[in-house]
Amino acid sequence: MSKLTDATHDPRLRSWVESANDGATDFPIQNLPYGRFRRAGSDEPWRIGVAIGDQVLDLRRAREQSPWGGDVLPLLEPLAAGDLNAFMALGAPAWGRVRAALSAALAEDSMQAPFLELCLLPQPACEMALPCRIGDYTDFYSGIHHATTIGKLFRPDNPLLPNYKWLPIGYHGRASSIGLSGAVRRPQGQTMAPGAPAPVFGPCAKLDYELEVGAFVGRANALGEPVSMDAAEEALFGLVLLNDWSARDLQAWEYQPLGPFLAKNFATSISPWIVTMAALAPFRRPFTRPEGDPQPLPYLDGDFNRRAGAIDMVLEAWLQTAAMRAAGQPALRLSRSNLTDAYWTWAQMLAHHASNGCNLQAGDLLGSGTLSGADEGGRGSLMELSANGRQPLALARGEQRSFLQDGDTLTLRAYCQQPGAVRIGLGDVSGTIVG
Ligand code: CA
Repeated sequence: MSKLTDATHDPRLRSWVESANDGATDFPIQNLPYGRFRRAGSDEPWRIGVAIGDQVLDLRRAREQSPWGGDVLPLLEPLAAGDLNAFMALGAPAWGRVRAALSAALAEDSMQAPFLELCLLPQPACEMALPCRIGDYTDFYSGIHHATTIGKLFRPDNPLLPNYKWLPIGYHGRASSIGLSGAVRRPQGQTMAPGAPAPVFGPCAKLDYELEVGAFVGRANALGEPVSMDAAEEALFGLVLLNDWSARDLQAWEYQPLGPFLAKNFATSISPWIVTMAALAPFRRPFTRPEGDPQPLPYLDGDFNRRAGAIDMVLEAWLQTAAMRAAGQPALRLSRSNLTDAYWTWAQMLAHHASNGCNLQAGDLLGSGTLSGADEGGRGSLMELSANGRQPLALARGEQRSFLQDGDTLTLRAYCQQPGAVRIGLGDVSGTIVG
């Protein structure tokens, strides 16, 4: 995949921001993710920044304080104005020029360092907001191991439905309840106990998380105009972590015949920094299908997708209960899986979404679906880890979990690493359940 990479991925590249050169940081100079922030506790306008080490480069100030090339200056305008959607709408060539300029500006020997030093803010001093306006949100179901494990709970002999290997399954989610890390209120809803004469209304008793990755659409397509696989690749702006909080007991009663509704739309959490597709170039992998599985139909197939459609990214879920926190005990890792566990690539999901002429817009969010691994250590939800509550998970000091309890903090993390490339990460997203 070497032709995907350029000077901005060079593993020898170091930054004058010293913390960016720490091998453990998620945000080395090879990453350069975008987020929206302001000084914590202030009522300043939100602005766009780039995470670099443990700092944020304020692009509004950077646009004013530092000299930039004439070709880059107009591209910085939407970023300086705090409008990431407008920047996303400019398309991949513009994203690439700004990435190259930011990389050069933050590199060790940059002449811009004395100017840009004045435009840094430590990350702990920043308050984050959603990175852009999310017009629409669609959640897919591309984690085949998750789909198989869940399917087995209900259809042991036939876990995957006949359409699964032919098209990316998805449903339209709700954009208004997407947020960042913080408290997640346990939803109330209607549930029907097995054998009960009537449903009851009350607090969800089977609150779960789903370990997912989200993709932001950059380039829009007009209504009625499908997107080719190559154009789909170019339309993708970047990735975040996504937790699709799920009320399993509400879901079981309400989902037939139209699919998820109130069991899903009470909260969805994403990580605040969008790691661009460009930053992920060193970690692209061929898209492959297991022997005997159908090859995708032509509109979901392409040379680039076969060569590099997949992304090698480690995904983890961590749990810290209130009792663990009180005892000073660190979070426990519940699972580790990989984005290559997805059965469909991002380009396939986007191309399929637009294949009927549906218009996607800059800032639309696509969820991957729960990404579980093939083995037991990779189960990306409590529904899988506890076999829908039949086998509670044993924690330290006699605690156990079938589903999330009030006070539980669930954190998702993701990173990419391989020999010959600098490790980059997505940061994390964390939610604490409140009653
Ligand atoms: Ca989901």
